[in-house]
Amino acid sequence: MSKRRRHPRFSPADPCPCGLGGPYGGCCGRLHRGEAAAGTAEQLMRSRYSAFAVQDGPYLLRSWHPDTRPPRIGFDPGLQWTGLEVLATTEGGPFHTTGTVRFRAHFTDGGEPGAMEEHSTFVRLDGAWVYVAALPED
Ligand SMILES: [Zn+2]
Repeated sequence: MSKRRRHPRFSPADPCPCGLGGPYGGCCGRLHRGEAAAGTAEQLMRSRYSAFAVQDGPYLLRSWHPDTRPPRIGFDPGLQWTGLEVLATTEGGPFHTTGTVRFRAHFTDGGEPGAMEEHSTFVRLDGAWVYVAALPED
C-alpha cells in the first residue's frame, strides 16, 4: 500500500481507492463528479467506498436511499481507508432492481489497522442505484 495522506485530496491521476486499478479520475471520480452513473450495485458500492476515502460527503448522501439516508456525513479525521475487497454479490446487474454486495473494507484508525465487513442492500431508484442499508449478519 502506498503512504496515505492525512487529509486525502485525490488527484485524478491517483490510483482509485476502490481498487479496480485505474486512475481515480477515470474510475469513481466520474461518478463523484456526476459524469457517469453506476451500472451495477457493485459499481455503486465501490464508488461509495471511494467517496469515503476521498471524503466526498455530497456523493455519499445522493447515493443513499432517502428513507435511510442520515442528515449529514461526518468523517473521522483519524480514519484512513486503505483497501476494499468485494466478497460476493447477488443480482444488482443492469436488468435488476435490487442487489446485495458483501464487502470487507480495510482502514487504519489512529495508525492501527482494522477491517469491517458489511452485507449491503441496494435498490434502483428512478433508474439509479442507491444504497439502502446493511443486512443483519447471519
Ligand atoms: Zn474506482
